[in-house]
Parts: sequence; structure tokens; C-alpha cells
Amino acid sequence: MLVIERSSIPAEGLEVHEELKPGEVHLEVEESFTLLPGGRLDCRLDRGDDQSIHVRGRLSARLELQCGRCLEPFAFPVDQELDLFYLPHGAGEDDEEEDEVELADRDMVVAYYQGERLDLGEMIREQFFLAVPMKRLCREECAGICPTCGANRNARACACPPVEVGNRLTDLGAAFDLPRGRKSSS
Ligand SMILES: [Zn+2]
Ligand SMILES: [Zn+2]
Repeated sequence: MLVIERSSIPAEGLEVHEELKPGEVHLEVEESFTLLPGGRLDCRLDRGDDQSIHVRGRLSARLELQCGRCLEPFAFPVDQELDLFYLPHGAGEDDEEEDEVELADRDMVVAYYQGERLDLGEMIREQFFLAVPMKRLCREECAGICPTCGANRNARACACPPVEVGNRLTDLGAAFDLPRGRKSSS
């Protein structure tokens, strides 16, 4: 269970050891990557006096991404140390300035939880999005797809004559890289 009631965290802290399921980390409808089996969250939750919750531990999982050049799926490992402070949603809303000072003092990553519940699945989902690279390549030297015959050039060299360098419209790999680059820069 990745949804934690704040009141269920004992004074001495709560250990969470969970195997990750796509539904629990809210990736059921995510299309840009999928969660491969075997992902884990191992962390410890501590309650602060000020309703804050401190999450420390480790997230390790493998995501399946699609290569932007050859379009083949590949596994991308995520191995992330966690050290996050959660505050109740709306904390300091009336007194924003004071709140900002307080957050700066913590010098930590701060997030917010809704109501009395902290959804660790939501946190994991965010961590995945932060970890996934903008440029997704199965390997740095991926040869991509031949723009002429469509062959995966990692698997075999085809006999097609080389395409004029710099003509991005005929380079299928570049055409697939382009929209992602644009999206992420906006
Ligand atoms: Zn590739
Ligand atoms: Zn070819």
C-alpha cells in the first residue's frame, strides 16, 4: 500500500517496503514509458512536530522507453536516493512570505500532501518523470533506422546509398528527435 495516513505513522517512524505496481504509481494511462516488473520502494517515514512528513530511502526500478532513433524499446534503470519533506497542502498559504523563509531554511526538497494522506505512488511517478532523459536513446551510438528502406541499422547494414547530410526531412531519426526536443524546451 503506497497511500499512507499521516495518523498511521507511529512516533518512531514507519518503514515502507513495497514492490511497485503500475496502477499504484499512477502509470496506467502513461504512454511515454512503462514500468517493468521488479521495481521497489524502500523508505522510512517520520512525522515532524509541524505536520511535516520526512521521507528517506531508495527508489529502484526499470522503465521501458522507446528509442528516439531506432524506435526499439529499451530498459532504463532508475536508482534514486530519496530525501523529501512533505507539508500539508495549504500550509502557510495565508502567510506566504513567512512560509518561503521557512522552506529555504530547510534547504530540502519540499512537496505537499492532500488532506491527511500521503500518496507515495504520486511521489514515485514524479521521480520517474524527473529521471527519464529528454533524449531517449537505446545507446549513445544507436545507428537508427535507414530513411530509405526502413531497416534497423543496429541489426544489419543495408545497401542503400547514404542520404545527403543535413537534410533532416529525409532522416527519420532526426524527424523523431525533433518533436521531443521542442516539447521539452517549452
Ligand atoms: Zn536505438
Ligand atoms: Zn537502407
